[in-house]
Amino acid sequence: MITHNITSIKKSLPPNIKLVAVSKLQPLESILEAYHTGHRHFGENRPQEFATKHQQLPKDIVWHFIGHLQTNKVKLVTGKAQLIHSVDSERLLLAIEKEALKQGIQQRCLLEIHIATEETKSGFSWEEIPALTTSPTFTNLKAVTICGLMGMASFVSDPQQIRTEFQKLKQYFDHLKQSTFAHNPHFCHLSMGMSGDWPIAVEEGSTLIRVGSQIFG
Ligand SMILES: *Cc1c(COP(=O)(O)O)cnc(C)c1O
Repeated sequence: MITHNITSIKKSLPPNIKLVAVSKLQPLESILEAYHTGHRHFGENRPQEFATKHQQLPKDIVWHFIGHLQTNKVKLVTGKAQLIHSVDSERLLLAIEKEALKQGIQQRCLLEIHIATEETKSGFSWEEIPALTTSPTFTNLKAVTICGLMGMASFVSDPQQIRTEFQKLKQYFDHLKQSTFAHNPHFCHLSMGMSGDWPIAVEEGSTLIRVGSQIFG
């Protein structure tokens, strides 16, 4: 089933869009089944579970960290995840910067933007971004590369609401790309779309989709 699911999703994706197989809570055998189809990009959302799987699974897996990250767990993720999708505070950004400096590595990150109507989802509000991007933390970043934005749409059945939320995020991404990040060639990723809404996200400009249940059940 996993093999079938992952190959059929990849067949229907435009070639420039990357699939992150979200393997949270999945046993190693299930992840390996997906791996043996040739798939290499996997995503996890809990730091400890991520660190354990990172250690146990093949080294050519490209890991994405997509969950809420507390500053005291930054060590478990920095340098192991190729991309951290879920930077949602200045404090977290600073903690990742410090850890990456210590390790002597460059950590790629996305800024998570709160686009849903639900209060439970994390992320910066639009209003917070100008203050962040002009803060000393941000302007002094050396070991963190900001590669784009991530967002999660509301968990609703109305596809038009979901589409509108993705459209807003894409517009904001384009705006930042032309202004704040005009001189950052790495700012080119827009992580949006999950099992229930990725076809809409792809139509609205996503470059990275994060799919769990549609692959692993
Ligand atoms: C779990 C999770 C996903 C995948 O969700 P599915 O609905 O199972 O595809 C994507 N993004 C984040 C941040 C998640 O926590």
